[in-house]
Amino acid sequence: MSLIQFYDTTLRDGAQREGISFSVVDKLHIAQKLDELGIHFIEGGWPGSNPKDVEFFKKARSLHLPHSKLVAFGSTRRPKGKTETDANLLALANAGVTVATIVGKSSTLQVTQVLETTLDENLSMIADSIGYLKTGGMSVFFDAEHFFDGFKADPSYALRVVEVAAGAGADCVVLCDTDGGTLPGEIAVAVEAVRKQVTVPLGIHAHNDAELAVANTLAAVKAGVFQVQGTINGYGERCGNANLCSIIPNLKLKMGIDCVTDEQLAKLTEVAHYVSEVANLVPDAFSPYVGSSAFSHKGGFHVSGMAKWAESYQHIDPVRVGNQSRVLVSELSGKRNIIYKAKEIGLDLPRQGKEAQKLLDQVKWLESRGFQYDNAEASFELLVHRAKPDYQPPFELVDFMVVIEKRRRLPTRKSLEEMLSEAMVKVRVGTEVMHTVAEGNGPVNALDGALRKALLQFYPRLAQVKLVDYKVRILEESIGTESQVRVLIESSDGVDEWRTVGSSTNIIEASWLALADGLEYWLVKQEASGKPSTK
Ligand SMILES: [Zn+2]
Repeated sequence: MSLIQFYDTTLRDGAQREGISFSVVDKLHIAQKLDELGIHFIEGGWPGSNPKDVEFFKKARSLHLPHSKLVAFGSTRRPKGKTETDANLLALANAGVTVATIVGKSSTLQVTQVLETTLDENLSMIADSIGYLKTGGMSVFFDAEHFFDGFKADPSYALRVVEVAAGAGADCVVLCDTDGGTLPGEIAVAVEAVRKQVTVPLGIHAHNDAELAVANTLAAVKAGVFQVQGTINGYGERCGNANLCSIIPNLKLKMGIDCVTDEQLAKLTEVAHYVSEVANLVPDAFSPYVGSSAFSHKGGFHVSGMAKWAESYQHIDPVRVGNQSRVLVSELSGKRNIIYKAKEIGLDLPRQGKEAQKLLDQVKWLESRGFQYDNAEASFELLVHRAKPDYQPPFELVDFMVVIEKRRRLPTRKSLEEMLSEAMVKVRVGTEVMHTVAEGNGPVNALDGALRKALLQFYPRLAQVKLVDYKVRILEESIGTESQVRVLIESSDGVDEWRTVGSSTNIIEASWLALADGLEYWLVKQEASGKPSTK
């Protein structure tokens, strides 16, 4: 048996985060991923609270989950009610799973003020509900809600609740920091007090309102807790739940607890990104362990250290959690960053040679003109390619013209006036010059359309490349009196994403540079991978 049991509540507590709404299919997909990560229990939802969760449990029966067990969540019976007729308990018993988690109160104030019942009735509700589900043959976890606040205010009652739950046959009593305001030291003291009183396995469910959910979870584990509850990316109500993406590697790599296999741990970054994709949230680049910037290095000093010893500025080897180091290129960079980065794209620049210095000078010059390569690695790669004497660009811009006109398009509907944008582009591919025109809902859109129209005749597969994000930033620290504009574009071919940058005092030109880089990068990449995109 593992020393730690992971219990994921992304599908229930995680879905409480503002802006998240999982469909039944989303939840099924996420459950599958959690299984690959080696999560022991997956809380699928609250079947007593909504029909979507009932449907989830129905469909989840066809999932193949070799590692995980699905858990249905609910609450204890109502005050003065009967277990046999309690709709919520019946929903748990009929969810088609063998494990249920029920939540009950463990703080005196919550019982009297919120539940509006007596302290004794609350204990009966807990004992009856656990007993009822146990009689039905289920494993039962008891979530002691507001346990730590309750323990602070009235420790004897909070402990009594745990005793009653254990006595009724709960397989695990989960101590909850429901409001997320407890400190790690307080968590340890309370867990130790509970352990003196009962032998039932304990769990921890922490919220992140004081940004301590991960620290509190680790403190609880150190104090002897067995079950660890949390969510992927720390999603959850208000500021979120304890983040399993930090807890799992901390337990395994820092505390030496063999809680998941090496292979499962190596899936962590993938699972984190997958869940954010499904949740339709941009993955947080700065997340510890799994963020794309978690192991990125910008300072030349750091990069030179890392060239000598890979771990010199990293607390772990990122490969262990499925992440990777990245070297950023910016005006702070030294020659080493350039050499290191070029090597990543398969170009060896000799350390003593002039090429690296030339490239660095060029980056610094371009950055002083508003280009920034930290987050536009595709544009940087193109700079490296263009530095090679034998580089043949897949296309070259001869010139372009953009017309913006305000025109009344539908004279019958006076209110509908539109801005019309039209772009004309002249592009050279090899010896041929193409001349195309396109309209768009804005000048950049028109320019994009005209450029593609020209290039698609030579590179039909370019159709799969889409512009997925377009950002414009006005640069304060501009040269002279003109305001410099930086455009960052993210493109995707459905498999990979890449970012390019353009900068100019003219927004159209800045956009053009970033757009053209986005397409050129893909074409160069295809050519290099032996999949040329010509007809
Ligand atoms: Zn919670």
